[in-house]
Amino acid sequence: MIIVQQKPLNEIFEMTKNLKSLLIVGCDGCASIIQVGGERQAQVLKTLLEMEKKVKGEETPVIKAISILRQCDRQVAATALNPLREDYEAILSLGCGVGVQTISEVCKPTLIIPANDTKFLGMHDTRKGKFQELCSACGECILFETGGICPITRCAKSLLNGPCGGQSKGKCEVGGGKNDCAWILIFNSLKDRNRLDLFTKFRPPKDYRLSGHPREIGGEDEDQEVSS
Ligand code: SF4
Ligand code: SF4
Repeated sequence: MIIVQQKPLNEIFEMTKNLKSLLIVGCDGCASIIQVGGERQAQVLKTLLEMEKKVKGEETPVIKAISILRQCDRQVAATALNPLREDYEAILSLGCGVGVQTISEVCKPTLIIPANDTKFLGMHDTRKGKFQELCSACGECILFETGGICPITRCAKSLLNGPCGGQSKGKCEVGGGKNDCAWILIFNSLKDRNRLDLFTKFRPPKDYRLSGHPREIGGEDEDQEVSS
């Protein structure tokens, strides 16, 4: 999932100052699942923004808090927000950067404010309360060859053909020996699966043009208008 983290409150207060009305929009997708951006968080943020105004003795803006199914789906966002957006001076999004940009496009010219910082594509380990980056969306997945462990993302140097000389006792030299060396993990994973033949396979340099920005897949021809 896409891992997001709420911005510091004073940053959110600063971006929302002087507004007369504000629509806070949560997202029931990734942001909600990791309890950063769902309806409950939208309601909490509404209360905090109202309290901040009261404490400062300033006029409280009209604030409504809602959550929508997915902010990153253009049609879902347009259907949910088009009936509301004209009533508010700005929208505070609790989605990821994709959600914020989708809302920005479908809700022109309403001002859009991101409440979260988007961190990475990762796994949520609920038992440890930890988020771990696992994929860099390189555009050409090689996990079959690497025992299900991504060297692009989990090796600090994104090496493709085994460990560098810096690994020590299975730990990576980058970051002070805190992280496991991805290539030791890959070796062990392939060994457990009786596929060490894949470990010795030479992998040519990756074609980073496949992950050049901005990327698109499918859709209409350029000159055809995509309706919201
Ligand atoms: S190789 Fe790594 S970065 Fe590329 S798609 Fe697979 S998991 Fe993601
Ligand atoms: S020690 Fe391992 S994980 Fe760290 S940079 Fe070298 S190969 Fe990559």
